[in-house]
Amino acid sequence: MASGGFSFATSDAQTSSSGVRSNPTLLCTPLMGTTVDQMLIEMRKAKEIGADLVEIRLDCLRQFSPQQDLEILIKRSPLPTVVTYRPIWEGGQYEGDENKRQGALKIAMELGADYIDIELQVANEFNNSIYEKKPDKFKVIVSSHNFHNTPSAEAIGNLVARIQATGADIVKIATTALDITDVARVFQITVHSQVPTIGIVMGERGLISRLLSPKFGGYLTYGALEAGAISAPGQPTVKDLLDLYNFRLIKPDTKVYGIIGKPVGHSKSPLLFNEAFKKVGLNSVYVHLLVDDVAKFFNIYSSTDFAGFSCTIPHKEAALKCMNEIDPIAKKIGAINNIVRRPDGSLTAFNTDYIGAISAIEDGLRGSNGTIPAGGSPLAGKLFVVLGAGGAGKSLAYGAKQKGARVVVANRTFERAKELADKVDGKAMTLAEVQDFHPEEGMVLANTTSVGMKPDIDLTPISKEALKHYALVFDAIYTPKDTRLLREAKECGAIIVYGTEMLIRQGFEQYKNFTGLPAPEQLFRDLMSRHA
Ligand code: NAP
Repeated sequence: MASGGFSFATSDAQTSSSGVRSNPTLLCTPLMGTTVDQMLIEMRKAKEIGADLVEIRLDCLRQFSPQQDLEILIKRSPLPTVVTYRPIWEGGQYEGDENKRQGALKIAMELGADYIDIELQVANEFNNSIYEKKPDKFKVIVSSHNFHNTPSAEAIGNLVARIQATGADIVKIATTALDITDVARVFQITVHSQVPTIGIVMGERGLISRLLSPKFGGYLTYGALEAGAISAPGQPTVKDLLDLYNFRLIKPDTKVYGIIGKPVGHSKSPLLFNEAFKKVGLNSVYVHLLVDDVAKFFNIYSSTDFAGFSCTIPHKEAALKCMNEIDPIAKKIGAINNIVRRPDGSLTAFNTDYIGAISAIEDGLRGSNGTIPAGGSPLAGKLFVVLGAGGAGKSLAYGAKQKGARVVVANRTFERAKELADKVDGKAMTLAEVQDFHPEEGMVLANTTSVGMKPDIDLTPISKEALKHYALVFDAIYTPKDTRLLREAKECGAIIVYGTEMLIRQGFEQYKNFTGLPAPEQLFRDLMSRHA
């Protein structure tokens, strides 16, 4: 694999403190209320949910009397305050006189604000005007916002130098991610900076700049009070930062895992893995990775800091080409969903979908009769009918073949059924033909078509009549859990195996591959049922 990645050199970037809090990165909640009273409520709530400080966004206030309102807001804040009065020319809402704006920020300083955020464009002028008037502990954040893109590493370096030259106590650069690899250039800055630096890459593709800021030496990150109450695109909530991503536990040497996909925000995997990492005490975090180009992603994030990945639609096939080693069955299936980085930096890939589905079906059959030879698979010799020939179809067909089953593939597009059947020495047919196919009793059926999936929950890929010949019916669909196919199979007396079993068991396998430890099966099951 080509190696064009950045070296993050994170292990000695910071020293972590003891206790539950492993990093010094601050969590700041922007207050977006349009009245002083609303902001007072918001700042109390910010403290309750675990923020370290609040950003008072004066430009959000509909009416504002600087002396009077700042006195109330700063003095009554239960948390340290950042005061920001963002002008429209830097992405804020203030459109008035510049002298009045800077005057209000000076009043905030005099009234005891802990930080002022001032834009680079006017920072020299502002800093000169407060020279030798700055109270002890008061700090100036000099910020630059780019709502279009993330410049080159060199250009960002120059920008940071310009910000430092204004006399900034804290540097803040906020750029926009057009691709997740843009974030690496900002990590490079925060991790190596000698001055406290806030590095934010806005937008959904920049999410990891916020989540991993403690790992890469960020001074502060922003967390919204609640979903939707964001001051910049891509901002997570405080709750998600703390509870979903274990923000306080992230350290410079924390290993990063994540799910690569597009879209990816809906994935529950971060919830499962981060809870498990916390419970077991592993110094690891699992994040959402919205990736457009997998090859570019692996090329840039090539350090061992990025220790493993899950891979979902649409990258399961493209990712295969970026691997150094591929599990033989995953290679045959032609799709991977689990990637582990070896200590030498190389990538090894697996397909845990087939293991998850096949083990669930085997356990279903084992539960039904006691005549299975010890050590053997209950699928050996069985007639195994796979409906569908897409990604899941391939996993089931190869998995069943590996266990010694005789495989039949039925698919809407016959050519795809034929192609897959040929690869597993099986028989191909159309979905119409499978309705009358019952050469023997006690067959196993695995639906891997999307027929019956939400919102078309009244559909089913095979008639109830045909189901009478099956001993076990599995449905890969997990939305809904109880599909029409499974309900009818149960009515016909078949054992049923849910798609959620495949989903959860493939997760067990990924956890084992990532950590080398047994999967916390009960924890995963409890979390899945609580967050279904
Ligand atoms: P895929 O690669 O796009 O394949 C879709 C399959 O469904 C193809 O065989 C396709 O037939 C067939 N199909 C689609 N619409 C159909 C229709 N109206 N009538 C008949 N056949 C139709 O998708 P996939 O990744 O294999 O996923 C398939 C299903 O499995 C989805 O519901 C997915 O959520 C589920 N799944 C579940 C898990 C789990 O962990 N439980 C894991 C992976 C997938 P053609 O070849 O004719 O287009």
